[in-house]
Amino acid sequence: MNMDDRIGSNDALLVIDVQNDFCPGGALPIDAGDAILPRVNALIDEATRSNALVVASRDWHPPGHVSFIEQGGPWPRHCVQNESGAAFHRDLKLPSSALIVTKGDRPDFDQYSALDRTGLADELKRRKAQRVWICGLALDVCVKATALDSIAAGFPTLLVTSASAPVSPEGGAAALDELARAGVQFVA
Ligand SMILES: [Zn+2]
Repeated sequence: MNMDDRIGSNDALLVIDVQNDFCPGGALPIDAGDAILPRVNALIDEATRSNALVVASRDWHPPGHVSFIEQGGPWPRHCVQNESGAAFHRDLKLPSSALIVTKGDRPDFDQYSALDRTGLADELKRRKAQRVWICGLALDVCVKATALDSIAAGFPTLLVTSASAPVSPEGGAAALDELARAGVQFVA
């Protein structure tokens, strides 16, 4: 690991959707979704010590959201506002200074990316973020979408592979291929 592999003071760390419903026992569980927590917390600790911005996104759906199967969407009901499934995992150690980004909170459209119409891209530019580090859930859905949007917004983007987990191994492998082609750098 060289110096560039450390989170710098002008970098931002994006922790994507580390919520109960995406962990074992939740409504839309990812195998070993909670196994990434020690690595995620170590990244948060590193970012905090560097005075880097820590951002935590959350899926935050109204009941009857367009992404739910009963509304014709692809996913079972998950991350419903103010229910326990939508809460961050209890072992996620966010600093009080963390910026919380809410997405999927409007009934008629979904947002996989934490940079999709959330205002976060503008906020990162306002803060002159040099690089964007990304970890969290799920690698092949919201993490991938966020990383692609980060590249599109012009940020050098690093994905911490050991701090992310996919819905399926095949989906995870395909996501890594797509992200590599888009110019995302990988950090173990
Ligand atoms: Zn969702």
